[in-house]
Amino acid sequence: MGAWDFDVIVVGSGAAGLAAALAAAQDGATVLVAEGEGIVGGSSRLSGGLMMGADTRYQRALGIQDSPEALFHDYMTLNQWKVESAVVERLTQRAGAAVEWLGDLGVEFYDQMVYGGDETVPRVHCPIGRGQAVVDVLYARCRDAGVEFALGQRIDRLLVVDGVVHGVAVGDDEITAGAVVVATGGFGANEEKRRELFPSVYDTGWSYYIGADGSRGDALDFTRDLDAQVTGFNRGLRLMHTDFDRMYEAYIPGWLVLVNREGRRFCNETAPYGIMDGLLAEQGDVAFAILDHRRLVEATELGVARYKQAIPGSTKKQSPHWNLDVFELMMREGKVHVADSIGELAAKIGVPVDHLQATVERVNQLVTLQEDIDYLKDASFLEPIDEGPFYGVEVRPATCCFTACGLRIDRDARVLDSSGRPIPGLLAAGEVTGGVIGPRYVGSGNSYGNCVTMGRVAGQSAAAISTGGGAS
Ligand SMILES: Cc1cc2nc3c(=O)[nH]c(=O)nc-3n(C[C@H](O)[C@H](O)[C@H](O)COP(=O)(O)OP(=O)(O)OC[C@H]3O[C@@H](n4cnc5c(N)ncnc54)[C@H](O)[C@@H]3O)c2cc1C
Repeated sequence: MGAWDFDVIVVGSGAAGLAAALAAAQDGATVLVAEGEGIVGGSSRLSGGLMMGADTRYQRALGIQDSPEALFHDYMTLNQWKVESAVVERLTQRAGAAVEWLGDLGVEFYDQMVYGGDETVPRVHCPIGRGQAVVDVLYARCRDAGVEFALGQRIDRLLVVDGVVHGVAVGDDEITAGAVVVATGGFGANEEKRRELFPSVYDTGWSYYIGADGSRGDALDFTRDLDAQVTGFNRGLRLMHTDFDRMYEAYIPGWLVLVNREGRRFCNETAPYGIMDGLLAEQGDVAFAILDHRRLVEATELGVARYKQAIPGSTKKQSPHWNLDVFELMMREGKVHVADSIGELAAKIGVPVDHLQATVERVNQLVTLQEDIDYLKDASFLEPIDEGPFYGVEVRPATCCFTACGLRIDRDARVLDSSGRPIPGLLAAGEVTGGVIGPRYVGSGNSYGNCVTMGRVAGQSAAAISTGGGAS
């Protein structure tokens, strides 16, 4: 409208921020992206960049029949409707178009779709070059569209004029805008906020975080004076891990057997990680991987981790944990329990001897049957546990992959205050928002799909507000 330095300011340059900036620029707005770090991309550039979307040209090319309604149904059912329905509807309606938008901009996808979780048809799109490639393309197109970038500017304040958000500030430096999009990512890098807002990952006792350093939850602080509503307490994605190192291993090799504190199997060990998170919660967030020496040797000699989930482009490589070399290091640090019999192993890991013996007998029966009639794991992963020494390794859902407690938005990405009214001039998208990612992570692609899709919605809303059109 001329009175401001920019029509739209976007805070944060991950997938959500870049999508918002480009969408606003495509709608004719002048845009500045303020980024706290010295590099664009946040967690989005570290990410696999897998993205869910329904009824895309990529699916149709493979003969996969899908619809936004089917995605909405799967999403809502998995989450028992404990999400913001209208926002999820907008996300699921527009996610496919957002994937195609990325494709039109220059992101290339593998011509193989994958299941991200437990959906009925494959609807996860895998970018060649992972999240970094998506960030690179969005950043380049933003630059082409005249979007300006201010790196190393960690915003600590919003400017408010007559109750309307009209800019941002770093210390005494103020920049004004017709509307502001907050896309600052999660708070995983902030231990205090993890403890306060995502206690189920903090309370596991082994606190690992694998996202970007810039995810400190700043926006939860700088929107507090505006009474912004925070929702999605204790949500995010927890990945199962040993207590050995931070090496990222989203899945465990399918041949491992997991038992709970009772020494009983409780799941299909190849469950998608969004599901596994909840399964482990049911077991008090502790499980033990049980294996024997022979299978460990075989896995090491094979040299390739046997995961159920095969992400195109992932080089076939050894599991970073479940091989002899790493095991020896883990043993030296006391992270592996070793025993000559199952009974002795049960005593060492503290589970009832009789239960663990029965579980192992059962596993060996299933191998003979060549069918997992208990938890339906694919028979190709069934391996006996019958040649000592035997190993038991404690695992917990202790790795915080991303957080999902944040600002409540409506379907136009407007931030709501505690009364439920939109805060004029303030929009948000991506990991900084709450209520979109539910108690069950729908699957790989849920978060990135949310970031790009709702980022685009936020950019369009911001441009409309700034240029006088308003949002619906
Ligand atoms: C290893 C890994 C793999 C993953 N793989 C997948 C996957 O394949 N599919 C999927 O759906 N999800 C995946 N996720 C999750 C997903 O990638 C993230 O949730 C998503 O990328 C977050 O995007 P965002 O734009 O909201 O935030 P980010 O990408 O984190 O960007 C936020 C930006 O805001 C900046 N910022 C923060 N505070 C300020 C401030 N005060 N002022 C200015 N700037 C600020 C940060 O520095 C950062 O650059 C993965 C996550 C990780 C860690």
